[in-house]
Amino acid sequence: MTNFVHCRGCGHQIHETAPTCPRCGAPQTLAGQGPATAQAPLSGGPSPYGSIPWFRQRWALVCMFLVFPPAAVVIAWSGEIYYLVGTTIKTFPKSAKIIMTVITALLLIALAGDDEAFQGFAGMTLIGGAVGLSIRK
Ligand SMILES: [Zn+2]
Repeated sequence: MTNFVHCRGCGHQIHETAPTCPRCGAPQTLAGQGPATAQAPLSGGPSPYGSIPWFRQRWALVCMFLVFPPAAVVIAWSGEIYYLVGTTIKTFPKSAKIIMTVITALLLIALAGDDEAFQGFAGMTLIGGAVGLSIRK
């Protein structure tokens, strides 16, 4: 005698060894491991912002941008950068990442040369960019 169970997705009766439901395609063996738990919850809950890795939070990125801009650029492009406005968690838009990249490129070009005026300008641009990133709402 074969055993039947009800599909987790649609309730259709399926064989207990079936890995997926032939009717709706819902997986039957991954109870509690659905995509809902794969992503970090960024809204609701007690303090979702605290569960974000420190290097993906804005303050860390701005500090790194001032100390070693290329590392900040790599981190910015390899994922999202989060910051709080009130209780709302926001992410850096692409435009902010592009600005960081341009400033970093400018700084590297300035440091490669020996034009002190240009180096001063690039340094001021870096500080201005960091301030802009840190006060952005
Ligand atoms: Zn089903």
